Amino acid sequence: MTETPDFIDIQAFDALAEETGISIVFVDARSREVAAANNNSICRHLNPSKEFSAACARFCGIAFEKAAEAGGRIGFECHAGLECRAVLVRDPNKPLVAIVGRTFTKADNYRKATTRAIAGDWKEHSPADLFENVLLTGSSAVLDQTAIKLESQIAEAAASASGQAGKADRPETQPAAVATHTPEPAESRNEAFAVAFAPADPQQESGDGSEKASKTGDHNVAEARAWRSFFGSLLKTDYPKAAYSILEFLAHHYGFTALVWLESKDDRFENTVNFGDLKGRRVRLGIAPDDARLLEAAQNNMPLQLGERSKQDSAAEARIMQMFPISIGGQISAAIAILDPVDGDAIKRQIVRMCQSVAPQLEILRLRSEIAHGETLSTAVRRFSESLKRIDTDDLWLNLTQNAAEMLRAERASLLIYDDKSESLEIKAIVGSPGFPMQGEVGGRVSKIVFAKNETVAVSDVTRTGLPPAPAERRYKTGSFLSCPVTLSGRTIGVINFTDRAAGEPFDKGALEMFGAIAPQLAVAIDRASLKERAHEFEQLSVTDPLTGLLNRRYIEERVMEEIKRSNRHGFPMSFMMLDVDRFKTYNDQFGHPAGDEALKIVGSVIRDTLRGADVAARFGGEEFSILLPQTTGVEAAAIAERIRANIESAHFPHRKVTVSIGIASCSDDLCTAATIVSAADKALYRAKEQGRNKVLVYENMHLAPAEQQSIK
Ligand code: GH3
Ligand code: MG
Ligand code: MG
Repeated sequence: MTETPDFIDIQAFDALAEETGISIVFVDARSREVAAANNNSICRHLNPSKEFSAACARFCGIAFEKAAEAGGRIGFECHAGLECRAVLVRDPNKPLVAIVGRTFTKADNYRKATTRAIAGDWKEHSPADLFENVLLTGSSAVLDQTAIKLESQIAEAAASASGQAGKADRPETQPAAVATHTPEPAESRNEAFAVAFAPADPQQESGDGSEKASKTGDHNVAEARAWRSFFGSLLKTDYPKAAYSILEFLAHHYGFTALVWLESKDDRFENTVNFGDLKGRRVRLGIAPDDARLLEAAQNNMPLQLGERSKQDSAAEARIMQMFPISIGGQISAAIAILDPVDGDAIKRQIVRMCQSVAPQLEILRLRSEIAHGETLSTAVRRFSESLKRIDTDDLWLNLTQNAAEMLRAERASLLIYDDKSESLEIKAIVGSPGFPMQGEVGGRVSKIVFAKNETVAVSDVTRTGLPPAPAERRYKTGSFLSCPVTLSGRTIGVINFTDRAAGEPFDKGALEMFGAIAPQLAVAIDRASLKERAHEFEQLSVTDPLTGLLNRRYIEERVMEEIKRSNRHGFPMSFMMLDVDRFKTYNDQFGHPAGDEALKIVGSVIRDTLRGADVAARFGGEEFSILLPQTTGVEAAAIAERIRANIESAHFPHRKVTVSIGIASCSDDLCTAATIVSAADKALYRAKEQGRNKVLVYENMHLAPAEQQSIK
């Protein structure tokens, strides 16, 4: 807190922000934040950032101007979906505006915020930082009430600073805009609950007069304190723990013995957390979250009373449970069911109120876990992509199956790819097999069905399905498996199976999500591996260059034609590069032709070592090389070319340094035949030579002004 104007008592606003759970930030006429209490962490990070400062300026930045125009107070929802009120502070020395709120009041808005943080335009900011102090408020009313309270506190402060009014009195000089409607701000919901909170202790209702009254009073104060401390601790934990401690709190204070926490799933509620002795009862309610009875109960601030069916004994006393919905932004996502009798409407109302108080807190916790989960997935995907790049080219199939198995924490996995010639699924790799041949069996059971239907099969226990059990010699540790089709551009190319999770747990929703996240990378890697395999087939037909061991011109020309067709058909990117050794004639002249040949061998091996599995390098002729990069954009190709250029420049050659120039062209609407793409790459190479050699140039950028050219060096 810096540079605060004299008459503002910041302490008071800190307390107000704390009490209401929303933020109060003072902004001066030049859009600078001069003081902040309980500021939303989203604002704290987006406001000063390069990408979002302009967006923030369109809301909080011009709040002073807008509030002045409106004569005192305005309301708005900003670009981040946060709801705010702005109150003008009419200090002659230092005019300010107080921004009140910065809170989500709509469930939809903070859901959008999570999506933006996980995978959208806020991705660059750490979700942990962004959501460190996210504010959620059940209704906009709190904002209005706080803004009004703040206005009157500011007016009081101004009046007492100028000596116009007694310190304790209400000011007479209230801002005109507020004078017409000055209801006493309602206590915040949390405070109200703390104050109203009283245990259901029947003994307190009997007993005598004044002593009882004072005892109850003390008790209430103690209870309110206990509630505040409990409420304050909720955000320090995670969602399931918070749910449990809410149940525990209720049990402790009302003497309940059996409570469950219900989460809405599709059109029913299921217990996820239990407290006390449920006596074997499994609570599963066939009630949709938008069930009219539930909504009506919520509206009346009462629980929904439900009778339980008793399976064992129809003569047994019918059991009743009370379902207290927990809703945020009008949506019911969870509920508490109390399985004990709940006596009296007053207690029911108190519990309803408690549910309302904790709902925003719980939503924050849910949001946090979603973000953490989203982060785990995106980190995993990044890790997987990286691992694919490092794959050893000789064992492509095995390596990529192994990497996928690791991501799913499966000890065993198999990969089957459809072979057009044999018209069947062919086993490409088996990870963690017990060491004897399984050909013919794998794929016969589940993979064929998965491939034909193009549908994932996740089984938590194979004995509960109609499937025949796996042959005993396969020695599977668990009955859970996951079988997923691998698709590329809508075409099913194979099936990957996972079994035996490391910790013995079944493949669940999380595993499916993980597979969904890595599936696109996996499909591309598999396709690359297929291409690579085809390249080996061609090698057999002596299409290699004897000096460098790379492929020869005839082969690469054929492959370019084939790849262009695929690229045109499926819309894949594809790039091609031409590489020519710089001033190579002088190398030969100075050190002799055999030395020149040695140097060309070194160039060839540097190229091979720098490329990825599916890239195809060829000696195009003389000291010219060409490289086909399937499924690679021009930008990616430029990065790879730059790596080749740099690696050759720094490689050791026996006589002198050797450098190369590289021209790149990528498949596009204009460049969609083998001839045009090769000639475009050649033109780019020629231009790179013109521009001084030891350089990479992209054909597409040659049409730009020289200053804009994406010349890498
Ligand atoms: P720059 O490409 O930078 O314009 O200059 P350069 O001197 O490399 O010119 P150019 O590409 O036209 O020269 C090709 C030279 O490469 C001619 C020849 O001496 C050498 N060369 C071509 N094929 C072979 C080969 O198979 N072995 C050896 N040792 N040298 C070759
Ligand atoms: Mg040449
Ligand atoms: Mg040359």
